[in-house]
Amino acid sequence: VKDVAIIGAGPAGIAAAIYLKRAGADLVLIEKGEVGGLLRSANLVENYPGFPNGVSGLDITSVFEEQMKTLSIRPKKATVTRLDVDKNSFNIETDSGSLRSKNVIICTGTVPSKLELDGADGPAGKSILYDVNSVPKKTAKSGTALIVGGGDAAFDYALNLNARGREVKIISRSGAKCLPLLLERVKKEKIKVITADPTAIRKVAEGIEMDCVSGKRKMTIEGELLLVAIGRLPKIDFLGPKLKKNLKILNKGPETNIEGLYLAGDVVGGSYRQTGIAVGGGILAAMMIQDSSTRGGAR
Ligand SMILES: Cc1cc2nc3c(=O)[nH]c(=O)nc-3n(C[C@H](O)[C@H](O)[C@H](O)COP(=O)(O)OP(=O)(O)OC[C@H]3O[C@@H](n4cnc5c(N)ncnc54)[C@H](O)[C@@H]3O)c2cc1C
Repeated sequence: VKDVAIIGAGPAGIAAAIYLKRAGADLVLIEKGEVGGLLRSANLVENYPGFPNGVSGLDITSVFEEQMKTLSIRPKKATVTRLDVDKNSFNIETDSGSLRSKNVIICTGTVPSKLELDGADGPAGKSILYDVNSVPKKTAKSGTALIVGGGDAAFDYALNLNARGREVKIISRSGAKCLPLLLERVKKEKIKVITADPTAIRKVAEGIEMDCVSGKRKMTIEGELLLVAIGRLPKIDFLGPKLKKNLKILNKGPETNIEGLYLAGDVVGGSYRQTGIAVGGGILAAMMIQDSSTRGGAR
């Protein structure tokens, strides 16, 4: 039985692991994909303290990884498929075995909201992507990358792909809703921003065609692929029946009504999804666990 299981090695999980490791906890950090989580998709992070010239999501992730190495924190590669609680501990089932832990910090972030489009279930569906890092490298044959969304993520993706040499168009139902400085940069790069509502998508020989409406006007926009950034939802699909029924998040996290269970980072961030907040949430959860163990808490 571990002292602490941390699910998800994005900024929240990494920060929690660093604190708990230094406090001498017997911990396991479980990650299904790449260490760094969603931060790996960020083009340029300019608001996280310590990087006066900004830093790419991939570069800051490798700094986090380096710090984990120094502390001998080795994430366990597995997907948590079910988490539930009994009297004395939590049972964590993964795709490579199960384990028990006295405390759990859920740091699983979010999943992208799906774009409802006619034709998305057909052959064109293969050209709809939700992760900027899954966009193939530009080749001589590459066409335009269409991005649907109007927030910071959509504009960040556009700048990212533009820097990779791709032609990009942003399509947003209600225009730009991003930080003014991102809009300025997009304009400077002459990236087209189209205010229109996408309705349908089709596969064509050269890529895809997307039907959109803008007021009474109908238009068809062509591209090679579609990258969607229209919002995100908490990733908690692995909660078992007892937790699903009883779990309540206190004060927007990290504390919950279940002793020993915490949620930190974007998973409880609502619309405040930022690296600094995720790191803070992970640290707070770690310190609360340390506190309860020195007080001789029930678990
Ligand atoms: C385009 C873009 C730009 C951004 N720019 C900035 C910025 O400039 N500044 C800033 O502060 N923030 C930025 N962010 C936000 C930042 O990336 C997030 O706030 C941060 O990554 C949240 O950290 P987290 O640890 O809560 O979750 P995540 O980073 O989402 O990490 C969650 C981790 O949990 C893992 N996981 C999920 N489910 C399971 C499971 N069942 N089993 C095992 N592992 C699981 C995932 O694989 C993932 O690695 C940006 C985000 C995007 C998309």
